[in-house]
Amino acid sequence: MIHFLSRSFLFSAIVLLLSTTFLAAQTQKPTVYILATGGTIAGTGSSSTAAQYKPGDIGVELLLAAVPELSEIAEVKGEQVVNISSQDMTTQIWLSLAHRINEILLQEHVAGVVITHGTDTQEETAYFLNLTVKSHKPVVLTGSMRPSTALSADGPRNLYNAVACVVAPESKGQGVMLLMDDRILSADDVSKTHTLNVSTFQSPNYGPIGYMYDGKPIFIRSSHKRHSLHSEFDVSTLNDLPRVEIIMGYAGANDLFIRAAVQAGVKGIVYAGVGNGNAPAAALEALAAAAQQGIAVVRSSRLPSGPSTQGNEVDDNRLGFAASWMLNPQKARVLLMLALTKTTDYQEIQRMFWEY
Ligand code: GLU
Repeated sequence: MIHFLSRSFLFSAIVLLLSTTFLAAQTQKPTVYILATGGTIAGTGSSSTAAQYKPGDIGVELLLAAVPELSEIAEVKGEQVVNISSQDMTTQIWLSLAHRINEILLQEHVAGVVITHGTDTQEETAYFLNLTVKSHKPVVLTGSMRPSTALSADGPRNLYNAVACVVAPESKGQGVMLLMDDRILSADDVSKTHTLNVSTFQSPNYGPIGYMYDGKPIFIRSSHKRHSLHSEFDVSTLNDLPRVEIIMGYAGANDLFIRAAVQAGVKGIVYAGVGNGNAPAAALEALAAAAQQGIAVVRSSRLPSGPSTQGNEVDDNRLGFAASWMLNPQKARVLLMLALTKTTDYQEIQRMFWEY
């Protein structure tokens, strides 16, 4: 009798334990890390209407405290990586961000990562991470155009949307995204297009990959470029990247900056050319001489959209150049730095510009 009672007690205890664990698992919210790097979203002004403000002023705790709704959709964990204006972003910070994100995403209970970032160089960080994060879990960059103290500050809504995008199952495998003003943009095509407007980020070639509506992402397409787990680049053991400089083309440009870059020992040059990545004769000659010396040369365009195509007006094969295809100069620089960790062969570099 006693034996039977203790057995039925044990059975009920196990059932109770299993059901509470099941319920806890059901109600447990996904964990999302917020890595804060500064920018206008963390900026403060002297009043709610003042145009002047200081970017990168408040810490991640205050950023999160401004959006109490986050606790309804996720278990958020904040980390302050740096607190800077994004014009001061560096390759070393990119590498430490990639290392930290890859470490975080290995944890099974983590749904993904949100990065708060100044808007000026946000597209470059997004593209760098798109090629170096080794996970299908979503990584979303966000920021704001108005400081945290402004009337109608856009930061809190952008932060909420970024977390909501990360926790949505359909965001998996979309590569690194940039989300602002209710639009989801893929890292390979997103670009800042207006100095002040809250809708500053656009995808000039392909359009957004989705929109946020009612706290959920609605995807309308996926990027067809290689990214994240499909990327061949591995920065896990790197603490710096090969030096690549961008030089701009314009009417009357000459070889001055190209020769200076070569003398400074750069490993690669992205020429932000006119039209379809064209360069005036003196610049072209200096670029050809640089390529002869083993410096990787990529022709890109200063125009906001359209491809820089190989061999159009310039005989790239004869000169040993690659063309950036859809990448703008600032993103071409990111890809060239990563490409140079693997090869200096211009044809192999050209393949990468087609694929990423
Ligand atoms: N220049 C600053 C930055 O990029 C502020 C611009 C912004 O975040 O919108 O961090």
